[in-house]
Amino acid sequence: MRSFLTTTAVFLLMSFMLCLAADVAGNTAEPQPAPLGLYALAAAYAPYCRICEEEKALCWDDGTVLYYDDEIEKESFEVLLDQASLKDQMAQPYPRHWRDGAPGVNEDPGRIRNESFFRKIYGESADAVRAQLTDVPWLNGTVISFTRVNGADQALARVREKMMQLPPAAQRYIMNPSGSFNWREIAGTRRLSMHSFGIAVDFQLPPRLYRYWLWDQKGTQEGSVYPEGILSDDRLRCIVEIFESEGFIWGGKWHHYDTMHFEYRPELLIQEKR
Ligand SMILES: [Zn+2]
Repeated sequence: MRSFLTTTAVFLLMSFMLCLAADVAGNTAEPQPAPLGLYALAAAYAPYCRICEEEKALCWDDGTVLYYDDEIEKESFEVLLDQASLKDQMAQPYPRHWRDGAPGVNEDPGRIRNESFFRKIYGESADAVRAQLTDVPWLNGTVISFTRVNGADQALARVREKMMQLPPAAQRYIMNPSGSFNWREIAGTRRLSMHSFGIAVDFQLPPRLYRYWLWDQKGTQEGSVYPEGILSDDRLRCIVEIFESEGFIWGGKWHHYDTMHFEYRPELLIQEKR
């Protein structure tokens, strides 16, 4: 019995000392490594901003600081969309794999955006963005107006080169761009569309694949239903995978789907690789 008590006492004493040591270690202000999402942002936009403020923010040379985490709990999905922090922006990983079913409710990787960040990178006004635009030749002989910032135009040009290797039947899907730069708010919101920054392009896909959640919702009580049929189209899959290989995300992977929409978001593809 005595040896049991002694063993117990020694054990309790050691536990206490370990707890004390852990507490002391916890109180020393060891800098915490930056979250992966912040690394991905800094890597994808390296010429413009860097990690700073004890690994908690992005900083620009002009003194602008954007904190990664605003530490605000968003009470609804709409509030999250309207007031997203950088952390919120990176919270949903963009799936590089081809989906085999509909995304979950409000699974919209890339659709939750911190507008201040995009204004800072691409321009605070229509004129500021316009000054950075260039014409990227497209497959049908027209051009797509796209930003030069962060090499987005070059990424789109590489997409075009890869598309030229596809069979004509697949090329037809993306032959006709239906919109690129356009400084405007997203329908029904006060949020700027990514078309405002010259980093998004829409295509006139074949009618069965050309789907937007708000169009499908009109006149129904229950809202839009993700069009899973689009996922069995191999040509569409090839096109999406080419865009993704150059740092673009596709709006067809969102619960709030926008199947014609491709957007240059290299930070989400970097994060997926990690
Ligand atoms: Zn679009």
